[in-house]
Amino acid sequence: MDYKMLISKALQGRENAYTPYSNFKVGAAVLTEDGKIYTGCNIENASYGATNCAERTAIFKAVSEGHRTIKAIAIVGIEDDYTYPCGICRQVIAEFGSEDVKIILGKRNESDYIVKTLEEILPGAFTKKDLDR
Ligand SMILES: [Zn+2]
Repeated sequence: MDYKMLISKALQGRENAYTPYSNFKVGAAVLTEDGKIYTGCNIENASYGATNCAERTAIFKAVSEGHRTIKAIAIVGIEDDYTYPCGICRQVIAEFGSEDVKIILGKRNESDYIVKTLEEILPGAFTKKDLDR
């Protein structure tokens, strides 16, 4: 899996961030099971609760195009530190991530990143498996 390419796509996605209130720009890129890539950015709203994160924008774009499983998601926020997904986005990653989905956290360029598993960022996740019992 080409982590650097996915981070590059997330950086491109970040360029479209709509953040007039926080100016905290985030980009994301997801890799689907069948190799398609969808980017996303955060989109704020004057009614703050209507704001959507970059991660969910990217995942929902993929899902709305018929993809149900993502193999990886790259996320880039501020330049000098890793930006982790919020709790809601972690839950959405749990819904559509593959068993071994990779969460790639980037910084200012493609070479500076760390990789996390879902278990590391959302231990004991409540998922569709819990509803199958
Ligand atoms: Zn989020």
